[in-house]
Amino acid sequence: MRPAGQAGVEPERTGRGAGTSFVVDHMVIKLGKYLRVLGYDAVWDSRLRTHELIQWANREGRVFVTRNGRLKDQYPAAQRVLQVVSSEPVAQLRAVQAAYHLDPRQALFTCCIRCNVPLVPVGDKEAVRGRVHPRVFARQSHFFSCPVCGTVFWRGSHVRNTCCKLGLPVPDDTAPARPPG
Ligand SMILES: [Zn+2]
Repeated sequence: MRPAGQAGVEPERTGRGAGTSFVVDHMVIKLGKYLRVLGYDAVWDSRLRTHELIQWANREGRVFVTRNGRLKDQYPAAQRVLQVVSSEPVAQLRAVQAAYHLDPRQALFTCCIRCNVPLVPVGDKEAVRGRVHPRVFARQSHFFSCPVCGTVFWRGSHVRNTCCKLGLPVPDDTAPARPPG
């Protein structure tokens, strides 16, 4: 699988995670993927060195998230930084949620995990016929697509499984884009 946090892809800033965005270093890339599951703008590039990641974070006003406890000598200094202690990605996610008061229900599964861009609701379900398994097409009424890679998403069992794994509330399958009622 190719690295997902291409520096060239600049996601929209509107409507995502109350303006909190992140650069994660190579030690916490799985945490970065979990942040995208929550709909937050998180980027990484394992080819970049620490000072380059910090420059990226500073340039775009992102929080630099790292397990590296020795950042004092880094130049430039990170303007916004969060050091996570745990080596376990779910515990790391908890730490970021607590530090930045992230609401996991706000934008859960609204972002393409691969491209870090907001998903677009598919207005007419017929548009994805033939692009998903016929059983999925028959069972689901709401689909979303990624404007960059074109992948079609829906709220199936993987959503439930991921929510359980991350200890998050399972979204209502029947009303994916808005609260029930
Ligand atoms: Zn995508």
